[in-house]
Amino acid sequence: MLHPTQIPCELVSPAPLGGWRGFRLWGWVWFLGLCSSLHLQAATVVLDPGHGGYDPGGIPRQRFIEKKVTLEISKLIQARLQAAGHKVIMTRTSDEFVELADRVDISNAAPYRAVFVSIHCNSAPNSSAHGIETYHYSSRSQRLAQAIHARVVAATGEEDRGVRKARFYVLRNNRRVAVLAELGFLTNSKEGANLARSARYQQKVASAVVAGIQSVVR
Ligand SMILES: [Zn+2]
Repeated sequence: MLHPTQIPCELVSPAPLGGWRGFRLWGWVWFLGLCSSLHLQAATVVLDPGHGGYDPGGIPRQRFIEKKVTLEISKLIQARLQAAGHKVIMTRTSDEFVELADRVDISNAAPYRAVFVSIHCNSAPNSSAHGIETYHYSSRSQRLAQAIHARVVAATGEEDRGVRKARFYVLRNNRRVAVLAELGFLTNSKEGANLARSARYQQKVASAVVAGIQSVVR
């Protein structure tokens, strides 16, 4: 290990800027600059709040409306990602219907390094069903699915229903790393009330999704 006082001579010499030594020094300066600019260039995130417009999501007559909760939580995620320097592309920002094909087109038009995260909440006829599920289709999307899933499960303390592979339209037709998160069951009285009514719980879930994204993309 190099002692702090043993600085390589080309970095302390007063006139190293000509000839081979200068070339090497400026080469390193350029290289380090390139590394830091690549590191600081945050990836684009395509955020997809599930459902909208005449498609409420969920099952008929459920108390908490999925399209409303997915948009609220997505907006919290958007704000946190933007604050961290990410570019965020939303597939919808209001209560409007967006075709699945259009959501995928938005994702596929995003930069190659972009990741797609679809935000949903689960529903079941049996109101005791509860917990977190996260889906991917391509194997290269599995890491992001696991990262988001682990953080949402840890942050909420809700049941881990696993990371699963599924042929959902927005995943299987996506050419970007793509994940679909089911952040809990709106048909379960406790999870539903937390997801739809508690600003604190929504913020906790949003922060967990962001932490998962940031652990995989920069
Ligand atoms: Zn849904």
